[in-house]
Amino acid sequence: MKELLMKNLTPVAWNERIHFECHHCGACCRHVKDSVPLESLDVYRIARFLRSQDKSFDSIDYMLSRYAEPVPLHECGYFIYTLKTVGADDACIFLKDNRCTIQAAKPRVCLTYPLVAEPDDASSFQYYLSMEKNHHFTGRKFKARDWMNQYFTQEDRAFVNADISAVPEIAWLLRQIPEKYKHRALFFFLLYKYTDFDLNQPFQEQYEQNNKRLITSLEAMIS
Ligand code: SF4
Repeated sequence: MKELLMKNLTPVAWNERIHFECHHCGACCRHVKDSVPLESLDVYRIARFLRSQDKSFDSIDYMLSRYAEPVPLHECGYFIYTLKTVGADDACIFLKDNRCTIQAAKPRVCLTYPLVAEPDDASSFQYYLSMEKNHHFTGRKFKARDWMNQYFTQEDRAFVNADISAVPEIAWLLRQIPEKYKHRALFFFLLYKYTDFDLNQPFQEQYEQNNKRLITSLEAMIS
């Protein structure tokens, strides 16, 4: 999955200036099957946004079943969610009339586009430029640093840092799970990573608590 996401990305320096202009053509949101990943924070934000628009909105489970689909993580046999696509051109399910209908809550990968942040080490990020839709590289110039200061928020940075620091232990535990417990482990993985959040409570504390619960559940299956 990471290889897929890193395709057509080229590293950029903090102070590099890049031409970029959004033409509101919707091109970035078409032909995106399996390529708009949803992190835990994205799912939480989208669910809260949908709930604010529609009082009948039920839960994160409902949001995932309607708007997302699981994609296997080849390295370990588990899944992450990506946004569903619709139509012959595999357009994002949230694209209508060339506009994003969840603009206020769109996933991090869409918000920071055409830049992508990948953690370098515990405290810093390497930025990459997506070169896929090169008709955007006209118009005004911006500095990579300014763009990311605007769109890669402190909340996102805190989440990504916590996520990255938990990954090695969780990945190691997932690899140790005996075959007979694989389904159970997958259930806990998706529960704690995506769905077991109270939308009325702040995200980060719940996320860190869920990571601990996931680790405890996985440890119990291999002991
Ligand atoms: S969430 Fe919005 S910006 Fe992201 S791919 Fe879908 S329509 Fe485009």
